[in-house]
Amino acid sequence: MTATTKIANPRDIAHNVMALVNELNLQPTPQVYHVFYSYLTDEVPELSQLIKVLIRNTQDLDEETVFRIYHKYLGTHAMQQHLKQGVEGLQSAVERVEMAVTSVMRETDTFCGDIEVASQQLLASDISLEDARSVSRGLSERSSKARDTYSSFNGSLEEYHKEVLRVRTELELVRRDALTDTLTGIANRKNFDTSLRDAVTTTMESGAPLSLLMIDIDHFKEFNDNFGHRAGDGVLKAVARVLVSSTKGADTVARYGGEEFAIILPDTEPENAAKLANKLRQNVSNQHIINKKTGKDFGKLTVSIGLTAYNLGENIMEFVDRADKALYMAKQDGRNTCVTQ
Ligand code: GH3
Ligand code: MG
Ligand code: MG
Repeated sequence: MTATTKIANPRDIAHNVMALVNELNLQPTPQVYHVFYSYLTDEVPELSQLIKVLIRNTQDLDEETVFRIYHKYLGTHAMQQHLKQGVEGLQSAVERVEMAVTSVMRETDTFCGDIEVASQQLLASDISLEDARSVSRGLSERSSKARDTYSSFNGSLEEYHKEVLRVRTELELVRRDALTDTLTGIANRKNFDTSLRDAVTTTMESGAPLSLLMIDIDHFKEFNDNFGHRAGDGVLKAVARVLVSSTKGADTVARYGGEEFAIILPDTEPENAAKLANKLRQNVSNQHIINKKTGKDFGKLTVSIGLTAYNLGENIMEFVDRADKALYMAKQDGRNTCVTQ
């Protein structure tokens, strides 16, 4: 199946995308689907060309490669293009509104002038009934023209409003994309840094407790060496899922880097953070990592956790360093444990 295959019906495209994804033995994640949808519809010629080459050599076409292609051609880059178009659309909508305002102002001026003239004519003592009727008819026509102008102005405003909403939605998508870790879909390091700064500021203002967990997968290098990097990526995603599902809305679960995660826990005393840390640790070790294709059991997966609470007034670096030190001590203590510093 190639990008040049003519498929017009979206249902047929969807069917063919799935067939191709299956044929290539890829997981049908939203990103994989999007990439092959784009390929079959030839939405981005460079992407189509690249996929065509990669299909010839299926060894290079794994989820990681598709993920990179997604982000290059369809992710943030594509969002930026959309946003650019949105801003251009917004500019032209603003220009249309400006023109409509000018025309409304002009119309209002002449309408007021016409009313003034008409009222003087009607006030003249010698005006005949017929002339009065004609002035009144003229006024009625004038008012209907003014109504048309106002209604078209209203239309321009509505269009402008829609454009503003569209650009706002796209901005939100771009912002979210820039703050998300591409592999796991959780907050990335940049997001973590900003969220931690905000959380520390809130704690300094309110005095509410703030806890921080640093979580590192145990012996992950060995896992990668034994089972391969792709299986390792699958584990990173699985751990991220466990962390997210074990925490609540106000908490920020982030990929700190490599196989290390961090969780910011606002309004949380260290004792409660320790309970949560142990729950996370157990939830991760309860995971049974099995290779879907071979059915092979990868064995037990564990994490070590460093926990610390924010000391009012200290700088963020001291706070993070202490959590790191606690994590280091958890590793020293034999792993699969949580240490508070
Ligand atoms: P420890 O228990 O002391 O933490 O041992 P470890 O093997 O987990 O730690 P080490 O720092 O020696 O190795 C980390 C490994 O994490 C090495 C690196 O290949 C792997 N890793 C980092 N990022 C990724 C990633 O994005 N995908 C995969 N599959 N592996 C990664
Ligand atoms: Mg590790
Ligand atoms: Mg590490």
